[in-house]
Amino acid sequence: MKLCFCGSGLPRYELVDARGIFCTYVCDKCEKTKRSRYRPDIFTDSDYWADEPIEPEDTSGRFRYIAP
Ligand SMILES: [Zn+2]
Repeated sequence: MKLCFCGSGLPRYELVDARGIFCTYVCDKCEKTKRSRYRPDIFTDSDYWADEPIEPEDTSGRFRYIAP
């Protein structure tokens, strides 16, 4: 069993967000502290990425014109 990086001597476990994506390692002692460094909504709202602009189709369309 691996110990937490914070030096508490307690076993570490994975802190994951609402989508199950790994954030960092925590233990019972430092989970609250490390959790506070992240946006609180990523642990409660699984749609937190919806407002970020993602347009991969636009890019691939441009490459198609460059190809011979
Ligand atoms: Zn810790």
